[in-house]
Order: sequence, then C-alpha cells, then structure tokens
Amino acid sequence: MRVGIGEDLHRLEEGRRLVLGGVTIEGDVGLAGHSDADVLLHAIADAVLGAAGLGDLGAHFPSSDERWAGADSGLFLTEALRIAGASGWALANVDATVRAERPRLAGHLAGMRERIAELAGVSAEQVNVKAKSGEGLDAIGRGEAIGATAVVLLEAAP
Ligand code: MG
Repeated sequence: MRVGIGEDLHRLEEGRRLVLGGVTIEGDVGLAGHSDADVLLHAIADAVLGAAGLGDLGAHFPSSDERWAGADSGLFLTEALRIAGASGWALANVDATVRAERPRLAGHLAGMRERIAELAGVSAEQVNVKAKSGEGLDAIGRGEAIGATAVVLLEAAP
C-alpha cells in the first residue's frame, strides 16, 4: 500500500463558475485558474500521483499548455489514476477536506463524494469529503480563496 497527500489553493473571483469535486455550485463567485480550477480534484489528483511516486499535477498538466485551458479537472483525476494504474496501483480510499468561508458547502458534500467516486470508478464508500470554514482568518477565512487537502491510499492492483 502507498499513501499520498495533496494540497491546493485557488483565488475566488466574481463571475467565474465554481466547480468543486466535479460539481458545479451556483453562485456569484468561482475559482480563478487555468483549468476549471477545481481545487478539490486538483488536491486529490496530486495525492494520487504522490502515492504512486509519480511527481505532481503541474509536471503532468503544465498550466503553460493551452490544452488544459478551461479543462474539466475530472480529466486530471482520471488521468492521474490511469497513470498510477499503469504502475500497478489502484485507489483504496480518499479522504479530503475543503476549506471555504463562502459558499457554505454542507449541502454539496454528498454530491461531490458521488461524483469523485464515479470519476475514480470506485464506490462512494471509498470517498469522503469534509468541509471546514476559515473562521474569519487568513485568505480563506476572508472569503478570498478556497483550499483543499486530500489523502489517498493506493493498493497493489488486483
Ligand atoms: Mg490547482
């Protein structure tokens, strides 16, 4: 078995679409970034690559590459899992925390969990997504950014 950790942070901007865990959340702010800026999927994909010892998301999907402009980050996760799978690793479970002051995410966690499981080809029981507010502190707490941390366990593919 192998464990990996992923971290990401994106700035909130007016007028951008907000996509978290592959789920679009209606509102007036979204995350800025080269792709769809899905901070949660970025953290999970980085954790997958980390667990497999395969570097990081930036190395596989450089933001200088126009192919990834506005990309659906679901692609990053499925591709990270495909690459890890080619090295003999399968996803055992993922646990993640999204840190956001706005919007409130409690009502969206189940949907994110389902979508991540669907993208990864595992059961929802192997995926857990939690949310924390920023307590009014730092950039996240001031509602200027959303952050995510993910831990992934890979096991030798059957
Ligand atoms: Mg990112």
